[in-house]
Amino acid sequence: MISPEKIWSSDQLPTLPAVAVKLLELSKDSDTDIKDVIETIKADPAITAKILKASNSSFFSLRSECKGIERAVPLLGTMVVTSLALSFSLSESAITEGPLKSRFDSYWKQSIVQSAAAELLAAKLGNELQHDSFLIGLLQDIGHLAMLRSIPDELVKVLEQAEEQQRDTAELETEMLGINHAEVGVKMMERWQMSEQFKTAIRHHHDTVEELQALKSDPEFNAIITIATSAAIGDYFCSPNSGLALQRLQDLTTEFFEMPHNDLHGFLESVQARFEEAAQVFQVNMDDIGSPYEIMATANEQLVRLTMKAQVDSTQASARQAVIEEQKVQLETENKQLQSKAVHDPLTKVYNRSFFNEAFEKEIYNCARTATPIGIVFADIDHFKQLNDTYGHQFGDLVLQRVAKVADESTRRSDVFCRYGGEEFVVMVSNPTENGIRELAERIRTLIENEVIEFEGKQVPITASLGAVVGIPTRNTAGLAERLIAEADEAMYESKANGRNQVHVRSIIRKADRELQQLVKRSRFSRWLVTKKIFDIPTISKALLKCPKQGPLVKLGELAIAEKLLTAEEVSQILNLQKENGQRFGEIAIQQKLLTQEQVAYILALQIEPPIALGKTLITLELLESTHTAELVKQYLAETKDSAAPIEERHQEPVKS
Ligand code: GH3
Ligand code: MG
Ligand code: MG
Repeated sequence: MISPEKIWSSDQLPTLPAVAVKLLELSKDSDTDIKDVIETIKADPAITAKILKASNSSFFSLRSECKGIERAVPLLGTMVVTSLALSFSLSESAITEGPLKSRFDSYWKQSIVQSAAAELLAAKLGNELQHDSFLIGLLQDIGHLAMLRSIPDELVKVLEQAEEQQRDTAELETEMLGINHAEVGVKMMERWQMSEQFKTAIRHHHDTVEELQALKSDPEFNAIITIATSAAIGDYFCSPNSGLALQRLQDLTTEFFEMPHNDLHGFLESVQARFEEAAQVFQVNMDDIGSPYEIMATANEQLVRLTMKAQVDSTQASARQAVIEEQKVQLETENKQLQSKAVHDPLTKVYNRSFFNEAFEKEIYNCARTATPIGIVFADIDHFKQLNDTYGHQFGDLVLQRVAKVADESTRRSDVFCRYGGEEFVVMVSNPTENGIRELAERIRTLIENEVIEFEGKQVPITASLGAVVGIPTRNTAGLAERLIAEADEAMYESKANGRNQVHVRSIIRKADRELQQLVKRSRFSRWLVTKKIFDIPTISKALLKCPKQGPLVKLGELAIAEKLLTAEEVSQILNLQKENGQRFGEIAIQQKLLTQEQVAYILALQIEPPIALGKTLITLELLESTHTAELVKQYLAETKDSAAPIEERHQEPVKS
């Protein structure tokens, strides 16, 4: 990218000689007297000589020879004379020695070809544009001249790349420089105060066919398509990319000049004859431009290669795209399968053992922090080996699927049901009571017993033996998962030993933990609300379910300090002991006689079920008014804390502060 200022601030930009400027002014005024034109030209003897010579060349083919400028001007007309004056000064601008000579030469030659082409194309559309078209054709690439003079290195790089990649120069200029020669040309036209027609035609000379079609209603449309087509002819004769130019030329002449491809060749021959005449006027040697036959052969060859390349590119691109799409779909399916395989048992579609183990470890950790119970139900199908032996392995598989389905459906969403091994299934139960887990195991047992599974039209009785365990994880959870599973397994074997198709439940909750558990339950705000007959159990249960799970739990130490049950020193004393022995906070506090069991239960209740959170939920559910809620929370805290205090301290001010 370049800054356009680099072009506009250059002192190398082409300028117009005084005579050309004056002639341009006169040509704009319809009242201009021909004598003024003649006087203006005469002021520049060099231009006068050149115009006179041109008027007698085959380019104009005037009937009689002009001896003086006084005769030539009326015969040629003001516009033509002005064009000639401008052209001569431009040709001087384009002549240079030095490393860029060939670039300047090409620019000027192409300009002459384009002017001749524009003149002939205008003739095809109707005569009135002919002379203007010659000049616009000549000026259309003035942007290149300006860029060659102001930013030569940058422009040459673009031109070389355009040749190498067979690309449209204007397109590549925009891409690499941020501005193209058509835009620069329009600026030059503005500087020279040229008419709207010049600016419009030059602005659009590299537009695509579709863009040009959209300009149909422009008052300068004829000039636009004339110049755009003349540009393609210029590229055809002068640029190394004749194939690309031929393609554009064919598109433009068919679309805008109703010229069949067959007629194009003849037209190009007439263009060549015309630019050779013009070359004489400007004294340029055009011999290095090949004959239309040679160019056509090269162009066609290039065109075939371009078309083939485009086809190959697009085929390759779509093939590549197809491969990518296919890989994507395959990867997605594989990923889904892998994910599903990783957590599901392929036969029964319930969770597999590795998923269960992971979920179990997590739940044990959570329960350990809050001293919440966790439960396991272990189920093993009775005499399954015999079923396999009698009815075949396939029937065995069917039994596994049916048993897994009924048992899975009977568990709550918070529970995790999995196939633990061959004909063994496990349920992880959240926050169970001993009775609750017994009911669940019994329910599963009954469902399996009642499931109707037939072999060749005859029902085959299926039963399972179950064992369950409930425990409260200790703070140190190492080996706890294995211990719980082993206990549940042993309970299941008791069922087997006792005659199968039955349930055995055991609890490994320590006596102290069980008592504390009961105390915590009684200390909860929800329980207090029920005791006070403010809500019944179903209503408060619903509210508890809706109560949002808070982020990290408030630490027991912080709660104890806030409730003025412990001092900060006492809390850090407990925490230090905890680091040494890994026991629970409450346990140590009781051992150290810093808190009673009731006080520990009270802060645990606050931790597990913060009254303010439940209060907010009750307000949101429109079960309570906010002022009433605040009063209730206050009353609950006061009463519960009071009853948690040691007997001798009850109804007294808290001694610890
Ligand atoms: P018990 O009542 O004491 O539990 O006797 P059982 O026959 O059920 O117990 P055992 O452990 O002796 O046999 C379990 C059988 O389960 C052995 C094994 O071939 C079969 N098994 C394990 N996985 C599958 C399976 O995926 N499909 C089928 N069809 N059978 C399986
Ligand atoms: Mg077994
Ligand atoms: Mg079995």
